[in-house]
Amino acid sequence: MKCPFCGALDTQVIDSRVNEEGDSIRRRRRCASCDKRFTTYETAELRMPQVVKQNGNRDEFNRAKLRTSFMRALHKRPVPTEYVDEAIERIAQKVLSLGEREVPSRQIGEMVMHELHRLDKVAYIRFASVYRSFKDVDDFRDVIRDLDK
Ligand SMILES: [Zn+2]
Repeated sequence: MKCPFCGALDTQVIDSRVNEEGDSIRRRRRCASCDKRFTTYETAELRMPQVVKQNGNRDEFNRAKLRTSFMRALHKRPVPTEYVDEAIERIAQKVLSLGEREVPSRQIGEMVMHELHRLDKVAYIRFASVYRSFKDVDDFRDVIRDLDK
């Protein structure tokens, strides 16, 4: 690591410690040329993956958009906003933990269905009927049957 003061390439780590949360390492370094000290931090790069839509376009993972989908499905349903926030957070965590650079929108759609299934059966059917664009009555019947499981 280059010295930020004199630009020398030879710096030494004189101390390194993990923070309390365990998600960052702090290193004290000393420049061998000018003897100045500085600190660096090492953290894991956690970036939300791009969402790949059905048409192949890429889009940012967007909590606000996800919320819109939830609210549309939950229109006039007795579900507290707090539960919706939690569901969105669970999805974001799940997407993040995939560790992928890209995630198909379909996979996120399935996660939304899963959460709606827990939150409100009516909203679940609303979302599923649009999302899966039921081709026939059998598809719809399958979803209704799944609800009883
Ligand atoms: Zn230096």
